[in-house]
Amino acid sequence: MQFIDLAAQQARIRPRLEAAMQDVLNHGRYVLGPEVGELEARLAEYVDALHCIGCASGTDALQIALMALDIGPGDEVIVPGFTFIASAESVMLAGARPVYVDIDPETYLLDPERLDAAITPRTRAIMPVSLFGQCADMEAMETVALRHGLVVVEDAAQSFGATRHGRRSCGLSRIACTSFFPSKPLGAYGDGGALFTDDDELAEAVRLVACHGEASRYRHTRLGMNSRLDTLQAAVLLAKLDIFDDELMQRQQVAERYDRLLQDVGTTSTPRIADGNTSVYAQYSIRVPRREEVRASLAEAGVPTAVHYPVPLNQQPAVADHNGRLSVTESVCEEILSLPMHPYLEASQQERVAQALQQALAWPYRA
Ligand SMILES: *Cc1c(COP(=O)(O)O)cnc(C)c1O
Repeated sequence: MQFIDLAAQQARIRPRLEAAMQDVLNHGRYVLGPEVGELEARLAEYVDALHCIGCASGTDALQIALMALDIGPGDEVIVPGFTFIASAESVMLAGARPVYVDIDPETYLLDPERLDAAITPRTRAIMPVSLFGQCADMEAMETVALRHGLVVVEDAAQSFGATRHGRRSCGLSRIACTSFFPSKPLGAYGDGGALFTDDDELAEAVRLVACHGEASRYRHTRLGMNSRLDTLQAAVLLAKLDIFDDELMQRQQVAERYDRLLQDVGTTSTPRIADGNTSVYAQYSIRVPRREEVRASLAEAGVPTAVHYPVPLNQQPAVADHNGRLSVTESVCEEILSLPMHPYLEASQQERVAQALQQALAWPYRA
């Protein structure tokens, strides 16, 4: 059993992938070739945003967004304590300071109730992370942002394709960032990312920052990066986009099957999918007591697992902040466990996971 089975997906569309890659080999425009523009147009339409700009990774996308917004030294950005390192790393790479806020105990997403207490005169942006595949309460984020003159930057690295009240993730904030890392819901065969916005001026700033701040040939009007989406990756993504909606339905079915199977297992809980949300289930995660023992037992039964994430960001040495505690984040970090999740997971495999989990949870009584 694979944690994420990229080979099953590849087998389904292999001829299409090969043809798409061959086209790039034939035209030879490896950087900013025609596939990049085509993909940007299709993705913008998909999320109903005016602009999509490709870049080299999800982490770069976040840094580019902040740089394009002129957020840097002396500024603060609110980030949930429970997320992947990149959310905070990008803030620090832009020269600003991440301020960690705790998560909602039911959804594990940035808790809007706790924003006001974290806002200072230096706060410039709120970065809700659409963790595990569903959006945070974006209306509440926007309300707080409007009240304090802040910008909302969605970290949608795990949620491309998700919806909130019928609108897609990446189209719900002033600017949004996603990732095409191979294991993400829409994954390339290497690194890649994209930014989305409806704001013409901001889109122009993003394009400049992503490409050396070059306004015209060798005229550099602002500090930028070298962060473009490879043509080959765009070609791969175009081929995968054709089956993406179908894969999202399959992900939904896999998640529903887990929901049913785990009801009978007991002593586990999953993050609640908030009202109005659909999730793309970048991860199917559960909370279990004695996680390390449960993991070991599952591994013995041939069930691969992962932990997203074991350490609250305020305690990660590279981005630590020792002001205050994040009690919900801390308790979730101790118990969270991700199960195999991908569109091609079969019912029989999921039954095996549930059985192994049942056994694992009975562990102390088995000896
Ligand atoms: C994967 C991920 C990123 C970074 O994306 P990369 O493409 O790997 O740089 C950022 N934030 C979150 C929440 C992620 O899961």
